[in-house]
Amino acid sequence: MSFQNPVFIPGPTNMPEEIRKACDMATIDHRSPVFGTILNPCLKNVRAVLKSRSAEIFLFPSTGTGGWECAIGNTLSPGDRVLVARNGMFSHRWIDMCQRHGLDVEIIETPWGAGLPAERYGEILKADRGHAIRAVLATHNETATGVRSDIGALRRAMDDAGHPALLLVDGVSSIASMDFRFDDWGVDIAVTGSQKGFMMPPGLAILGFSERAMAATATAKLPRTFFDIRDMARGYAANAYPYTPPVGLMNGLKLASDMLLEEGLDNVFARHHRIAEGVRAAVRAWGLGLCALSPDVQSDTVSAVRTPEGFNATDIVTHAAKVYGVALGTGLGELAGRAFRIGHLGSLTDVMMLSGLATIEMCMADLGLNIALGSGVAAAQEHYRSSHAVAALQA
Ligand code: PLP
Repeated sequence: MSFQNPVFIPGPTNMPEEIRKACDMATIDHRSPVFGTILNPCLKNVRAVLKSRSAEIFLFPSTGTGGWECAIGNTLSPGDRVLVARNGMFSHRWIDMCQRHGLDVEIIETPWGAGLPAERYGEILKADRGHAIRAVLATHNETATGVRSDIGALRRAMDDAGHPALLLVDGVSSIASMDFRFDDWGVDIAVTGSQKGFMMPPGLAILGFSERAMAATATAKLPRTFFDIRDMARGYAANAYPYTPPVGLMNGLKLASDMLLEEGLDNVFARHHRIAEGVRAAVRAWGLGLCALSPDVQSDTVSAVRTPEGFNATDIVTHAAKVYGVALGTGLGELAGRAFRIGHLGSLTDVMMLSGLATIEMCMADLGLNIALGSGVAAAQEHYRSSHAVAALQA
């Protein structure tokens, strides 16, 4: 008999049983009208999750990385200049992709642990009087460092500079877990995947395109075939797909997005915030620090926890998996061995989170760190109890 613990990696996330069942469906003819009854609710629901009235939604059999490629490939041409800050492993990987596509990438080097510097973006855009910069790229939530950035501030900086660049946002580890406002922030392309906030298996790249981004596809010259949204849009207009769609995943997405909207986006975000605050209380009680350099950038979906000098943080992750059967995230890039990551997004409750915190405490004690068993758990329990007491009093 093998038992399954919840995972505490920052994606893929735990899947509700109903979603797993929805993904596991009998074959249908994807050229029959039945396909439209799966596709169209997905498009409508995802648009609502992005908080957009009019974004064109595209679902590709792919992942977040494919979503990046779809975003740049459909809107940019070789040699186009893009402006992007690098503050962690995922922003780094998107930059690398842009460079490999022959884009001219202007990088704002930003400390790992800091949010994206909206002011610096603004200064550079202001100085770009000829509007050579075609797109501004931003990673809303840096999963490597557990840092959330202020996309609204970035949009204001772009507007203050009077700059027409497109705003392309990676929301892979924020969308459907943390507030994301496609319309209010004037986002031109939002990118995510199925395996994080949507509580699904990996396998779908999920994108929203603004009218301006759609218009840019007419002149963009980067090569694209599989990810050409013009083919996809033509397919959708006929309730179809330009190739064989991953129908089971789309059926799962239909249910997952229904579940999110039924819970209420604000409630989903509040749940993530409450769970994250409990994790942060535990980290403080352990006497450890987060990679996030200030409270305003702390992510509600992932916490990167620094461990003491001379201790290999990856040992906690290895030990948790081997001894307790629990998955945590390792530190990435310059944080490898210096931090471990706790994923707290998707289908998660306070009680599930407490089990993860208790496991981390056991691992740290087993590995000789000076941690009092129960200290972090108690701090999180206090937070969860008081949050629920406040909610109960308000009801
Ligand atoms: N962007 C961010 C912020 C991520 O966290 C990830 C994956 O964790 C990606 C992009 C890449 O997504 P995928 O692994 O689905 O290709």
